[in-house]
Order: sequence, then structure tokens, then C-alpha cells
Amino acid sequence: MTGMGDGSVRKLVIVGGGTAGWIAAAAFSRLLGQRLTIELVESETIGTVGVGEATIPQIIRLNTILGIDEHDFLRRTSGTFKLGIEFVDWGSLGSRYLHTFGDTGMTIGNVAFHHHWRRSVTGQNAPDAKGLWDYSLHQHAADQARFGKLDRVGNTAMTGLAYAYHFDASRYALYLRDYAEARGVTRTEGMVESVTRDGTSGDITAITLAGGREVAGDFFIDCTGFRSLLLGGELGVQYDDWSRWLPCDRALAVPSERLPTLVPYTRATAKAAGWQWRIPLQHRTGNGHVYSSGFISDDAAADTLLAGLDTKALGDPRPIRFTTGRRQTFWAQNCAAIGLSSGFLEPLESTSIHLIQSHISRLIQLFPRSSHADAERAEYNRRCADEFDQIRDFLILHYHRTDRDDSEFWRYCKHMAVPDSLTHKLELFAASGRVGRDADDLFRDASWVQVMLGQGIMPADYDPMADQMAPAQLAEFLANLRTLVTRAVAGLPTHEDYLRQHCAADPASMAA
Ligand SMILES: Cc1cc2nc3c(=O)[nH]c(=O)nc-3n(C[C@H](O)[C@H](O)[C@H](O)COP(=O)(O)OP(=O)(O)OC[C@H]3O[C@@H](n4cnc5c(N)ncnc54)[C@H](O)[C@@H]3O)c2cc1C
Repeated sequence: MTGMGDGSVRKLVIVGGGTAGWIAAAAFSRLLGQRLTIELVESETIGTVGVGEATIPQIIRLNTILGIDEHDFLRRTSGTFKLGIEFVDWGSLGSRYLHTFGDTGMTIGNVAFHHHWRRSVTGQNAPDAKGLWDYSLHQHAADQARFGKLDRVGNTAMTGLAYAYHFDASRYALYLRDYAEARGVTRTEGMVESVTRDGTSGDITAITLAGGREVAGDFFIDCTGFRSLLLGGELGVQYDDWSRWLPCDRALAVPSERLPTLVPYTRATAKAAGWQWRIPLQHRTGNGHVYSSGFISDDAAADTLLAGLDTKALGDPRPIRFTTGRRQTFWAQNCAAIGLSSGFLEPLESTSIHLIQSHISRLIQLFPRSSHADAERAEYNRRCADEFDQIRDFLILHYHRTDRDDSEFWRYCKHMAVPDSLTHKLELFAASGRVGRDADDLFRDASWVQVMLGQGIMPADYDPMADQMAPAQLAEFLANLRTLVTRAVAGLPTHEDYLRQHCAADPASMAA
């Protein structure tokens, strides 16, 4: 039943049943289910984008809010654990680094570890950034394909293993669908053909499906994917195109056989006109080539993808087109767009599912009791825009800070103008290793440091506060850290053993 004609919001309609639609349905049913009637409309004829298999640690917060059991979740989605992303050939051909989810070393005397480390390599002719990862618990665990639950390293203040998941995207949507339907969400199969709006307020009042059925509502969440049927299509909210900074606009995705050893990380390998992902799942490997059609043909991109597979392909590459950017606003009238309908940032740092969940939790925090919600809407739009823009800068860093000049694509990326906000961060880090991160940036200082160093920026100096330690004390401190990290990792089970013991995939999901 919709509101009582008093403008109250009682009926929520979610249009779209991809990852965005079902996360929205799950979260709203869990947190506002007593107050709202929730109906989700999706069309099997249209289908979902069907990719999106790697995440970042914030997903654990979502699972906790929903009360999802981690092992059950991984069993049913054929998932694995993820400690970070290995970037191969980005800063230069032959280079490789792991952007981990954790800290490297430990802060001491209020000075971040990388300053101590930078001090320790001063005076050498060509300090090698790779040395930083000798102190990374995540790096050692990734190298040895180990995983386990570890909050702290020994009895030190050094933080333990932070992790996220890889999972099968189609299984994930089904899992959330079961969850949401069990909490009262109604699912309606049908294709939306038209939208009805109130002549006075301009708010959406109903959608009409093929065959004539009308679904009325007080608030609408547009999860219709790249189509953006309601926010972009019906309400005409414009799209800001960011292709000049992030020129990839196509992807080819293909599954391949399971990796012989299930490594606990995603791999992103830079190619001549884009990059290739590799995501290890329990039953298969997810692969895709993200590329710029201005610099390579589709046929050549498919050849690159297939030549770069580590295991046998299980089908033909499936094409996907996109334009990187975002809607100018995310909530207009009585409709918010979530997921691909709100914008797209390529999957280089696995941020899309995170954006879905953070937009949903923000929308729930600001969710209006009535249709009069100008202040809430403005706040929502401001915060979502900031979040998109900050992630954009972090992604551009990977492309722009490179020594590669072996293809037209990389020459373009290296010389393109970038947003001032990123230029400032690059200059600050190059000068003194300091991170000019915004307070609410999704990526922590540790992430900026790893990616800046990994891409080849060696700071000219370090924080003078790091000089407080005597040189011999610093050497001893670094040696102790290395020992502690090595010992902690040796005590972990292998990733495969951990999965086998706690969350071996259901046979049904292995067969899919
Ligand atoms: C190449 C690529 C790789 C990616 N990799 C990752 C990753 O590793 N990690 C990550 O976090 N994210 C990743 N993403 C993003 C991730 O796939 C999406 O954010 C996620 O799947 C959400 O999609 P969605 O639900 O917004 O849209 P979709 O999956 O496209 O769902 C749209 C829904 O709307 C419905 N619909 C559309 N039109 C109508 C209509 N007229 N009537 C009724 N229903 C309609 C469809 O039936 C469908 O149910 C990737 C994206 C791409 C393109």
C-alpha cells in the first residue's frame, strides 16, 4: 500500500534485480522492513551485467549488518578470500606490487612506517621500493598462498590480516534474493515500459510493466544498470563523462578453469591498451580484459585476453560496453539511482559493490519519512559525489604515474592532464612521502602509499620526526619486524586448507 495521501513514504519500489537491486532489497528489508512495504521488479529477459566478483573489506560491514554468516556465504557463492590486488606491469614493464588491504610494518612514535623505511634506504644509490613489502604480512601470506584469521601479529600492536572476498556474481545475487524474500520483499517479474509522474510535484507515482500491470510506490530506487531507466531516462539527470582521464570503455569477460593453487588475491595485469583481471574462485577463474576502443580493436582485445589466461577458457569472451563517469546527482525527486545506473568506475580497485553498499547505507541513514526531503536529498548528493570523485583520483593514479611508453595508450595516460586534486597528492608524496588524503576518502593512507610507491614514486625525503630513533635502533626494529611477520605467516594454514576446512563450496555451486 502506498502513502496515505499525506506524503508519507510507505511503499518502496526497487527497479532492477542485479547486485545493486538485491543488496538494496536485503538492506532495506533488514533495517526499515517494519516501516516499508518493499517490491522489487526485474526482467529476466533483460538480465544482469553478470560480472563483479571482487570486493574490498568494507563488504564485511555489510554482511555484519545483514547478519550473514561468512562461511555459509562463501560456501554458497563458491567464494575465496582476498588480501589485495597484485598489479603487474603498471609502473613499468616487469614491475609488480601488491596493493594490500593491510598496514605495512607498524607506526612508531606517531610516524607512519614508510617514513622509517624510507629513512633506512637513504644513502643507497637507487633505493628499491620493493623492500617496503618485506614488512607486509599480506605480501608474505599472498606469496605463500596462505590465509587465516589473525587480528594482531604476535602480541605486538601490528595489525593482522584485513581481507575481502571473491565470489561468483550470479550466486551472490541469488543469495541476497533468498535473504530479502525471506524478510518479506516481493519480487515481480516484468519489463518496465512506462513511468507515471505526478503532474504537480513531478514525483514518480508508478511504473507500468509489459502487459499493463502497474506498480505504484512512494519512493523508487533505480537499479536498472547502465540503462538508468528512471534517474537518467525519465528524470533526465545528466551524466558526467570521465573518459578523458579513464579512457577504457569496453570489457571482454571469460571464465576459465580453476587455478591449480587458489591464491588469496586478485591480479590486474596491464596490457597495451588496458588491463586484464584474474579472480580465483573455488570452481573456476573469472577473467576479463578492460580496454580502450580508441587504442585497440575488439578482435585484438579478445586475442590479448585469451593469450593472457592461466587456465583453459570455459566459453567465449562476452563483450560489455561502458562510459566511465557519474550522474550529476544521485537522488532526484523521489528516486535514487544505485549501482551502475548511478555511474561507473572501472573495476581496477573493485569499488563498485562497495559504492552500492555505501550509497544504500547513506540512503537508509537519510531516508525520508515524507516526500518533503530537500535537505536530505542535498546531503546525500553531496556525499555520494565526493565519494565518486575521490575514488576516481585513486584510479587515475594507476594509469598516469607510469614509466611505460611502449604503446600509444600508455603515452596518452602518462601525458594526460589530471584533476588538480590528484596533482597535489602526487607532488606532496614525491617531496616528502606525506599523504594528502581527504578525511573521508575510502582509501586509507596505507593504500595511497603502496600504490604511489608501487607505481614508481620514490619520495625525495621522509618525515623528520622519523629521525628520533638512533640508526642502530632503527636497524634492529626493522629486523625484528621482518622476523615477526615471517613467523606469523608460517603459522597460517594455506588458503586452500582454510577453505576446505571451513567453507568448501556447495556441490551445486561447483557445478554452475
Ligand atoms: C567489466 C566489469 C567488471 C566488474 N568487476 C567488478 C568487480 O570486480 N567488483 C565490483 O565490486 N564490481 C565490479 N563491477 C561492477 C558490478 O558488476 C556492478 O556494480 C554490479 O553488478 C551491479 O550491477 P547493477 O545491479 O547496477 O546492474 P545490472 O546487473 O545490469 O542489473 C540491472 C537490473 O535491472 C533490470 N532492468 C533493466 N531494465 C529494466 C526494465 N526496463 N524493466 C525491468 N527490469 C529492468 C535488469 O533485468 C537487471 O535485473 C564490474 C563491472 C563491469 C562492467
